[in-house]
Amino acid sequence: MEILANSEQWQKIVNLIIKKGPLSRSQIIKTLKISQPSVTRLTEQLINKGIIVECGVGISSGGRKPVFLNINPDYSYLFGIELGRAVIKISLVNLMGEILSTHQAITNNAWSLNKIFEYIKVNTTMLLKKHKINVKEVLGVGVGVPGPLNIKQDGTIHLTNFYNVKNIKLKEKLKTLLNLPVELGINANVATLAESWYGKGKKHNNFIYILADDGVGSGMVIDGKLYSGSHKASGVIGHTTIDKNGDKCICGNIGCLETMVSTTKILKNIKKHPDFKNELHLFHNSHNLTLDIVKEALIKKSKVAKSVINEMGSSLGIGIANTINLLDPEAIILGGRISEFSFDLTDPLKEMIKKKVLEEQSKNIPIYITTLQDNVVLGAATLILNSVLNSNN
Ligand SMILES: [Zn+2]
Repeated sequence: MEILANSEQWQKIVNLIIKKGPLSRSQIIKTLKISQPSVTRLTEQLINKGIIVECGVGISSGGRKPVFLNINPDYSYLFGIELGRAVIKISLVNLMGEILSTHQAITNNAWSLNKIFEYIKVNTTMLLKKHKINVKEVLGVGVGVPGPLNIKQDGTIHLTNFYNVKNIKLKEKLKTLLNLPVELGINANVATLAESWYGKGKKHNNFIYILADDGVGSGMVIDGKLYSGSHKASGVIGHTTIDKNGDKCICGNIGCLETMVSTTKILKNIKKHPDFKNELHLFHNSHNLTLDIVKEALIKKSKVAKSVINEMGSSLGIGIANTINLLDPEAIILGGRISEFSFDLTDPLKEMIKKKVLEEQSKNIPIYITTLQDNVVLGAATLILNSVLNSNN
């Protein structure tokens, strides 16, 4: 795939086909505004190199039936790594964005860096062996880490509350360890990239992805490109103030969105709900609640669970309405474990958006729940495609 570096037009065509394929040659001509003879020549070259393939015939609108082109998913592969505080996941991904296999381990933010590097080395090798793929066929390794990602001039990054390390040249270390190109990104941003390439964001040029999980993060695609701010610190929606008289947040401020919306807050609010005792049977008579128990209780019509999730939906709705008023996106995509509460969360969330958003058409913008299984590892892998195809979206 290094050959793509030689031609900007090849990059554009491959980029478009991965994102929107399968496509006919005339669709490529129309979208990229490249002349017909050029597209015929360039696609021929890409087919000869094995990067794209012809994949079926469409319906004719009068003339010859169009032949569709798609990416050859097995032309090259990517590694996507989620290096979270609690877990490390390594996935081998093909060019179509399909995760071939994932190896993962619970780390509880307690492993040594050496142990992490060893795990990455051993498991990337095992994954290649399992799928009979030569390391030469791998384009690179993308890594998603929790933000903010303070990158210094010399490449050192500073991560908060991260395996007891303050400063580390993570990119360089991994490059040397794996002998492959490495790209880093913040989890919420890389998940947004995955949505843009392979998920609900595919058909939108402007959208906001909200990662609602242990905390709340977000990523923004503006005019087709991932916006990451002037210090790669954008999207920290979890620490925008919703209530200046609210609870103290881990960041030191008061009343951040994250003090109202998080997985731990769900469990806390259920236990302190005045009717919790009456519904103990719906929660397995347990004070050791898990999100799965809460989901089960909702199915069994727990009023406590419903009121807590509804309330969280409203709070998240306020945070999202603020960003809609600010950025006027076409759509919102929700991800993270909190999004799995679906209608109990999204109905009050949509109500709040209707109430707080000013622009009439934006009051009803689509609110999707992600359909991607593992958008952080997938998005991390996409960082490499982004850099090879020089596209930033
Ligand atoms: Zn905060």
